[in-house]
Amino acid sequence: MANNMREYDMARITFDDTKVHYLKQAETEPEDAGHELANTVAGIIADVRQRGDEALTNYAARFDHVEITHFEVSDEEKCAAVEALDDQTRRDTEFAIEQVRRFASAQLETLKPLEIETLPGVHLGHRHIPLTTVGCYVPGGRYPLLSAPIMSLVPATVAGCKTIVACLPPGAHESMVAISHLAGAHRIFRIGGAQAIAAMAHGTQSVPAVDKIMGPGNAFVNEAKRQVFGTVGIDALAGPSEIFIIADDSADPRVLAADMLAQAEHDPRTRPGLATTSERIARETIDEVERQLESLSTRETAGEAWRQRGDVVVCDDEATLIAFADFMATEHLQVHTRNAHELLSRLTNYGSAFIGENASVVFSDKCCGTNHTLPTMTAARYTGGLWVGTYLKTCTHQWIEPDGIGAIAPSAIRQSLTERMEGHARAAALRLYPDRIDDILS
Ligand code: NAD
Repeated sequence: MANNMREYDMARITFDDTKVHYLKQAETEPEDAGHELANTVAGIIADVRQRGDEALTNYAARFDHVEITHFEVSDEEKCAAVEALDDQTRRDTEFAIEQVRRFASAQLETLKPLEIETLPGVHLGHRHIPLTTVGCYVPGGRYPLLSAPIMSLVPATVAGCKTIVACLPPGAHESMVAISHLAGAHRIFRIGGAQAIAAMAHGTQSVPAVDKIMGPGNAFVNEAKRQVFGTVGIDALAGPSEIFIIADDSADPRVLAADMLAQAEHDPRTRPGLATTSERIARETIDEVERQLESLSTRETAGEAWRQRGDVVVCDDEATLIAFADFMATEHLQVHTRNAHELLSRLTNYGSAFIGENASVVFSDKCCGTNHTLPTMTAARYTGGLWVGTYLKTCTHQWIEPDGIGAIAPSAIRQSLTERMEGHARAAALRLYPDRIDDILS
């Protein structure tokens, strides 16, 4: 078996790579945003800042091939879009919204305000404050992904954001307008790509400037989010979908193959992967993927993703399996082993984990209630996915009683004088010696 480890940054997670053997290796490396993309997007952002709606009309004609001067979807159009949903789609949408809301509400419950007296008379605390205005980008895509607006809009409603803006490409399916409305968007705009991100970041005549932008999109959307970060907050930069499965010899290769292909059909740039301690499982899964592809209607996309970006790896032991999974830091981690719960407790880097054979990624993608917008491209090393906390800011406060001043002011004064910051020393001293305030300040 070849042992041909690719050149990743190995400094953070280490494992014995002589114990990792590729049976199938991705042919294509993850992509970096190139200079050309960055320049194109910078031009779009500058233009939208300068010309506002006029620039939006121009880009809609150029990139979306539509003539549009009025971007906001009216209340009548929203109602018509909802009416046009067939009954089953509406019920399924409402079911998914309810599940996402339930979980987000339960997560919010865990975020209690904090008040603590750390020293006698020294009171510290924090509050989780909803962002006032948020913008959710709802991507177009090769299939209208009905769950995409639900995932970024519902947590905003649960968090209690005052104004929730949604932007979707002018050519997006009408059902996306309906679902954005049902999921809680207060204002919906037909603007796509980098220009939508620029409009929400800087505001235009018709689009309000927001405080933070959420939601996935194509390379133009991601690059624009990267460039406006600082002017606004962003959730994360979402790349193509990833699924990585770890398995022992109890796994069913038919299920492993089906789950990898379910993600692979999203996009030819999806990264499907399997690491297992069983060479038999690895070989049978490779055969099974080829067999299932023959009858899969999305085989063109799924097959390309599998051939170009699929990895199948055999690890010598469980410790290597865990270290390798942490190294991959995948968006979706499925655990198909006898001891799946115990094994998960030893894993550190994943966007969302799917424990045991029943927990397919497809359930989270659509409707089980966890958020499907998750870190990709190893960002799971430093962040989890979109959640209600993404729409809140945790702000601290403090109040000091007289006995608390005695506990902290002398130290603050000495520290300030060491730093040669007399203003700081004065501000602390006048609290410690209020009857000498005029002396201190002269
Ligand atoms: P999109 O909404 O991301 O982008 C469409 C916009 O791109 C258009 O409105 C257009 O204005 C702009 N554009 C197109 N060509 C351009 C060009 N040459 N120059 C500048 N701008 C251009 O829709 P998409 O392109 O169909 O891609 C959808 C993306 O969203 C996919 O990458 C998909 O993987 C991702 N997605 C991710 C999730 C998730 O939860 N992670 C969910 C749904 C979709």
